[in-house]
Amino acid sequence: MDGKTALTLLDLLADGTPEAPALLAPDRDPMTFRELRERVLALAERLASFGLGREDRIAIVMENGQEMVLSLLAAAVCGTAVPLNPRYRAEEFAFYYGDGNVQGMIAAPGTVPDAHAAAAPGTVVIHAATDPSGILRLEPSGTARPPRALALPGPDDVAILLHTSGTTKRPKRVPIRQRNLAASAANVVRACALTQEDRSLCVMPLFHIHGIVASMLAPLAAGGSAVCPPAFDALRFFGWVDAFRPTWYSAVPAIHQTLLSRAGRHADVIRGNPFRFIRSCSAALPPTVIGRMEEVFGAPVTEAYGMTETTHQMTSNPLPPGVRKPGAVGYGFGVQVAIMDEAGALLTSNAQGEVVVRGLNVVDGYENNLEANEAAFVRGWLRTGDQGTMDPDGYLSITGRLSERINRGGEKISPLEIDHVLLRHPAVAEALAFAVPHRTLGEDVHAAVVLRSPATEQALRRHCSDFLVDFKVPRRIHILEALPYGGTGKLRRNAMAGTLKLAG
Ligand code: AMP
Repeated sequence: MDGKTALTLLDLLADGTPEAPALLAPDRDPMTFRELRERVLALAERLASFGLGREDRIAIVMENGQEMVLSLLAAAVCGTAVPLNPRYRAEEFAFYYGDGNVQGMIAAPGTVPDAHAAAAPGTVVIHAATDPSGILRLEPSGTARPPRALALPGPDDVAILLHTSGTTKRPKRVPIRQRNLAASAANVVRACALTQEDRSLCVMPLFHIHGIVASMLAPLAAGGSAVCPPAFDALRFFGWVDAFRPTWYSAVPAIHQTLLSRAGRHADVIRGNPFRFIRSCSAALPPTVIGRMEEVFGAPVTEAYGMTETTHQMTSNPLPPGVRKPGAVGYGFGVQVAIMDEAGALLTSNAQGEVVVRGLNVVDGYENNLEANEAAFVRGWLRTGDQGTMDPDGYLSITGRLSERINRGGEKISPLEIDHVLLRHPAVAEALAFAVPHRTLGEDVHAAVVLRSPATEQALRRHCSDFLVDFKVPRRIHILEALPYGGTGKLRRNAMAGTLKLAG
């Protein structure tokens, strides 16, 4: 990093040795840092030539891969990138486009019809396709605007807009600035001691901050490389390891568990390509799984803790010779972490309270949401909504969650959103979605309903699938005579699994 700290994505891409490999993907030529930077700039100029600029939000609806990385970076250099899960339903796309004030949308032609259908008139729709020589081309289809010159972003410009599913039905907008991304990538580099020799295998979706920062930006910020295959595929993972020889990967516990169950068949690949380490984040990793992973992969497993509002990582366990504490999520790298009580006082070691953080990777606030900002930010600290304790060595353990948000294998789900979809079914009088413990996902989604006219569980799940991406559709919908209102007359969502004796 020639002694300078990166403040923008372009600074970060300038850190690598120009002719060193930066981005690799199956069936694509490897791209050097020089090529990556040149192509990102050329594509950002192309987006500007379609009339898009700094204040415009550009949705990216693509599977992982070289095209996704290029489109995402180019959109974040020209304006603000809004990466969205390509599996969303039309109604979900319409919400995110409208709420995020999306002006442009990049997708591969012929893919995600729901994403196209939801685009409002006037949206600059852009087709992304790789030509036979392996170059990504962006072509506008439909609305054209007068061309503009590319204005390069500064550290304070919003690079990426993401949403978090909170406790309300309406997700909150999280504007992530160029400087937040640069700071967060640098924190992951430090926590994992990444160097130019390191190569990550990106199995996390690039519409989630975990994939963007840990799997893609951090390795590039270290001058190393990232391999970006299509979405995670357990059947192809070990083939990718064999072909690209990554030194590490980062994933949610559910992915680690899937890989563990297949690892026996790929002992040769594991032996032939030992990982330097494996990283886990975004949901709790049971200590027994850490033990099995370390045994099977012969590499240290480090658990980290992150959230969208902190541009991913807050804490991490260190790698050897540092001490990893299974069950703890490590300590802050480049961020201050503390435990706060309800009144806003910071607590001492071992006391349980809300985890709060502050640092350069923490966003300035939710966009246009005074109420949420007043609730979440206290004297410069961000309240995470997670409950935890900190030991005298500064290691944090997550002990619970103050919100009702469901964490299904790392995918965060607002139960209220599911309640509202269920209540739109004519047979449903009352609905309550809730988390149920799950062996590999940590939590899964169930719902309880009271009917006003006959309907089957299957029909209700089909109804949910019409409006909700698959991971939000309740695995089980329990049809009850009445919802279990407690003594106070209140529904306790977090107690539902226990009340219905559901153990996952
Ligand atoms: P997201 O905004 O999707 O990254 O989700 C952030 C939330 O994921 C945090 O507020 C935690 O509730 C949860 N989370 C992230 N990492 C961990 C971890 N290592 N252990 C337990 N929960 C985690």
